[in-house]
Amino acid sequence: MLGRDPLTEKLKGFGTSIFAEMSALAVETGAINLGQGFPDTDGPSEVLEAAVDAIRAGVNQYPPGAGTPLLREAVAAHQRRFYGLDHDPETEVLITTGATEALAGALLGMLDAGDEVIVFEPMFDSYAACVALAGARVVPVLLRPEADGRYRFDPDELRAAVSERTKLVVLNTPHNPTGKVFDAEEMAIVASVALEHDLIVVTDEVYEHLVFLGATHVPMATLPGMGERTLTISSGGKTFSTTGWKIGWACGPAPLVAATRAAKQFLTYVSGAPFQPAIAVGLGLDDAFFAGLALDLSAKRDRLVVGLRAAGFTVYDPEATYFTTVDIRPVEPGGDGIAFCRSLAQRGGVVAVPNQVFYERPEHGRHLVRFACCKGDDVLDEAVRRLAGLSR
Ligand code: PMP
Ligand code: GLN
Repeated sequence: MLGRDPLTEKLKGFGTSIFAEMSALAVETGAINLGQGFPDTDGPSEVLEAAVDAIRAGVNQYPPGAGTPLLREAVAAHQRRFYGLDHDPETEVLITTGATEALAGALLGMLDAGDEVIVFEPMFDSYAACVALAGARVVPVLLRPEADGRYRFDPDELRAAVSERTKLVVLNTPHNPTGKVFDAEEMAIVASVALEHDLIVVTDEVYEHLVFLGATHVPMATLPGMGERTLTISSGGKTFSTTGWKIGWACGPAPLVAATRAAKQFLTYVSGAPFQPAIAVGLGLDDAFFAGLALDLSAKRDRLVVGLRAAGFTVYDPEATYFTTVDIRPVEPGGDGIAFCRSLAQRGGVVAVPNQVFYERPEHGRHLVRFACCKGDDVLDEAVRRLAGLSR
C-alpha cells in the first residue's frame, strides 16, 4: 500500500470542485440542477453543423499550437467588432481548452512562487487553485452586497491590497457568482491601481454577451493605458451554449499571450480541432443573434428571481450571467449554505451551489447560495414551485 499522501501540498484544502459535487448530487437524487451553469438546450444550429461538417471533412488531428488560424482571426474580428480592439491573430490571440485553460496558462505562465495576486471575492473556483499551483498567494478584495442589492468593493481596500509582491489582478466581469457587471467608474479604479503599480490585469469575460438591459460590459483592455497590460479571456461555452466543447481564448499584447502559451503548451498543447472552426462561425453570427442571447436569458432571470423572492429568499438581482445569488437566512435560520445545498437536493428536489466555496474568507459567503437560470421555462417553473414549498 502506498505509504504517503500523493496530493501536492499546494492543492490541500481545495477538495473536489463544487460543480462536480453538486452535479453528481443532482444525478443521484434526480433533483433539478440549478447548480452548475450550463444550458439545457443547444445553441445555434449553424455552429453545431459546422462542427459536424469539420469532423466529416477530416479536421480531426492536432490544430496548430496557437489555435486554428480561422478561429484566431474570428476572435480578433470579434474584439474589433464589439469593442474596437485590434489584435494581431498571429501573436496576440491564443486558442485554449476553455477559459479555464486560458486562466491556468496565464497564471502558471506569469506567476512565480511568492508573488501576490489580487482577486475580488467571491471568485470562480479555479482562480485560487491555479494561483496556489503557481506557488503564489491570493489577496482577496471583498465584493459586498449593499442595501440596493448591488455588489460593490471598497476602493481603499483594493489600494491596501497592493504590496511589493503584487504582480497581477484577476478581474471577472460580468461576474460569477454575483451577476455583477463592473461599471465604468469601478473599472477606472481598478485600472488606476494597475497603472500606478505596474500590475498585469487578467480579465475573465466569459459572460460578455449575457448582459441584461441597464448594464454595459466594459472590457478592461479598452481603458486608457490598459491595452498593453491586460490579458482578456473568454470562451465560446456560454455564448454558443457549447460548454462541453471547451473552446476558449486569450488575447492581449504579445508578451502576455506568449507567457500564457508557454504554460498552455504543456497543459493540453492543443484541443478541439473540429470545434474551433465551428466557434469561428459562431463569432461571425449577426448582431441579432448576440442581442437575442441576453434578451432570452433576461426572461429566464426574471422567472427565477420572482420565484426565489416568492419562496422567501433575499435576492440580489443580477445584471448579467446565468446566476442569481440569494441570502438563505429568511428561509433557513441557521444560514449555512453548504448544509442547505446538500439537504436541498433531497428535501426540495433542487440543486444549487453554496457561494461560500467562492470565498477566501468563507464567513462572508456562509449564508449565500447561487441558482442558475439557463434552463427551460418549464424546468425553472417546476424548480420555483418546489422551492415555494420549503418555507411552508
Ligand atoms: N470563468 C468563469 C467566471 C466561469 O463562470 C467559467 C465557467 N464556465 C469559466 C471561467 C470556465 O469557462 P470554460 O468552460 O470556457 O472553461
Ligand atoms: N462556470 C460554470 C459555473 O460556474 C461551471 C464551471 C465548471 O463546472 N467548472 O457553474
